[in-house]
Amino acid sequence: MRLSRYFLPVLKENPAEAQIVSHRLMLRAGMIKQAQAGIYSWLPLGYKVLRNIETIVHEEQVRAGHIPMLMPTLQSADLWRESGRYDDYGEEMLRITDRHGRDMLYGPTNEELITDIFRSHVSSYRDLPLTLYHIQWKFRDEIRPRFGVMRGREFLMKDGYNFDVDKDSALHAYNRHMVSYLRTYERMGLQAIPMRADSGPIGGDNTHEFLVLAETGESEVFYDSAILDLKFGDRVVAYDSREECAEIVREWTTPYARTDETHDPALFDAIPEERRKTSRGIEVGQIFYFGTKYSEPLGATVQNAEGKAVPVHMGSHGIGVSRLLGAIIEASHDDKGIIWPEGVTPFHCGIVNLKQGDAEADTACETLYAALTAIGLEPLYDDRNERAGGKFATMDLIGLPWRITVGPRGLKNGVVELTSRRTGESEELTSELAVRKVAEIYGKTG
Ligand code: ATP
Ligand code: MG
Repeated sequence: MRLSRYFLPVLKENPAEAQIVSHRLMLRAGMIKQAQAGIYSWLPLGYKVLRNIETIVHEEQVRAGHIPMLMPTLQSADLWRESGRYDDYGEEMLRITDRHGRDMLYGPTNEELITDIFRSHVSSYRDLPLTLYHIQWKFRDEIRPRFGVMRGREFLMKDGYNFDVDKDSALHAYNRHMVSYLRTYERMGLQAIPMRADSGPIGGDNTHEFLVLAETGESEVFYDSAILDLKFGDRVVAYDSREECAEIVREWTTPYARTDETHDPALFDAIPEERRKTSRGIEVGQIFYFGTKYSEPLGATVQNAEGKAVPVHMGSHGIGVSRLLGAIIEASHDDKGIIWPEGVTPFHCGIVNLKQGDAEADTACETLYAALTAIGLEPLYDDRNERAGGKFATMDLIGLPWRITVGPRGLKNGVVELTSRRTGESEELTSELAVRKVAEIYGKTG
């Protein structure tokens, strides 16, 4: 993409309404524009990152054997009356009446709809296990929408639902989700810690929230710092193996990590003092096993191996896709702007032409642009007639992890400059080598 032809409405001033850094930077970098309280338009740069995050979520869900689909945003109130949640949900639910006077709602979540699909089409244990998921907009009429996309009213969520014949299989689905989530967040450059959360009236150790540590997080968290040493890395997981998934879950759930809702001071105090940490965290996902809570009232049963009709065991598993943009920025920025992890960056590399209009500099930039594009990378070429300082400030603000700077002085010596946004370190090298290095970073072969 050439910046002169792109739509990147960056703001010079700090927007007064933004209280936290991610909200401020998303507005300043021209990623989002508020349409109404808690409702945003996703401008091209923000939309690109949102799509990248979605792609990672899809890839990791499919890898775990979960099946993508898409359910509507508008739902009928009748199903929610059947489950008993229509009245319980309260004012967070946006209720709508159509022209025929039928009650509808903008879905805050999808347990009812998915259970209805299930009961219409599945009747035998032979069709299980089954996990269906979608990535769809949700609406919750939050009393205090704030912090930009972090607590919106309209937000994008991945929600997945597992259907299993018994509790043991459903717990395997729970573990599979935990493992796939660990991989998902790590690919986004995030450390999201699974923390035992409050399971409400159902009880038991059957829900975990994933929290990214950040001062601006809304949850208070308590953890053993040993958990920070755990890395998922590139291990290959046999998702069908109950033992393997359970082992990974054990690894991540053994060090103490809880939110204030489930915090147990006695257990916490048993951790060696230097490892005892209290901090704040952003909830970027939650997994839940809830047994037959929806399948019983909605009559979602299957014939088990003995030919007996039993209600299916279910769980639901959510990732806050749009909230993740804010969480990533909270975890990765400096005073100049955003620092995107390579896994989600909107463009792989910036190209800054220090002297637009200089024949040699222009040609060198065009060649770089073509070479990067040819190996499947997306560069953002700042080809505007602006002074160098302004170009650097824009690149730093929008946070591309790598920048190639091209100017007449370097070209005289046959070099360009490759700079890491994270460390600020630069090296001079030939254009060819710069392309090769960037290609390597992104695992492409030139
Ligand atoms: P919270 O406690 O933050 O209100 P929740 O527990 O009600 O969230 P879930 O039903 O668990 O939310 O939804 C799954 C994920 O969706 C959450 O982990 C979070 O990342 C995201 N999410 C929930 N509410 C919002 C919101 N208002 N804006 C953006 N993302 C949200
Ligand atoms: Mg939650």
